[in-house]
Amino acid sequence: MWGTQNLYCLNCDSDELSCSPPNTAAVDYICPKCDSSFQLKSQSRLFGTRINDAAYATMLQKIRADETPDLIALHYDVPNWRVENAFLVPRFAFSISAIEKRPPLASTARRAGWVGCNILLTEIPPDARIPLVTNGEPTNPASARKQYAKVRPLEKLKPEMRGWTLDVLNLVRSLHKQTFTLADAYTLEPHLASLRPANRHVRPKIRQQLQVLRDLGLLRFIGDGHYHLR
Ligand SMILES: [Zn+2]
Repeated sequence: MWGTQNLYCLNCDSDELSCSPPNTAAVDYICPKCDSSFQLKSQSRLFGTRINDAAYATMLQKIRADETPDLIALHYDVPNWRVENAFLVPRFAFSISAIEKRPPLASTARRAGWVGCNILLTEIPPDARIPLVTNGEPTNPASARKQYAKVRPLEKLKPEMRGWTLDVLNLVRSLHKQTFTLADAYTLEPHLASLRPANRHVRPKIRQQLQVLRDLGLLRFIGDGHYHLR
């Protein structure tokens, strides 16, 4: 099986993953060394902006309880049976805003009324989509582990706090500027406000989260209201 032969742990230095015991919901692999769990989503076409996932309520509950597994998304090519692309999203990189509720299944379906969810890849910061295979070329494990270690400080935040931090990180990345100003960051206010309609204090929240990102080592304050992404 491709996974057991090619996958490895990014959380520790284990060069292999084991298949999880049968009936382990939403977990496909386990690291034999550090017990990290991994969920595999594979498909024969490139991943777009959404990944179809399990029950909506379960996913929200898992994010709040900090129990999501690392997600491995794998795109394979059928004629060659080759893994073309694969990336990993660490468990601490999921925020509630990245989870989209799907319409309930029709009354004619076997599980009528069941509500699934999609993971919105556009709401996950690019830093937290770690490439494992790109166009058939595997990433060097050392550099994949390095990228994992870079975002790992996010793990220290409480899950209910992490959402804002991830959203702000994702949005400042979307500016496509290594150095940006507070005014640039404020242009993200409408998008953040649409993600959290109940919150009317988006600007103070942006400033607060820029400090959190600085404290986590993902951002540097270079003075005069300028910020530098690492
Ligand atoms: Zn491990």
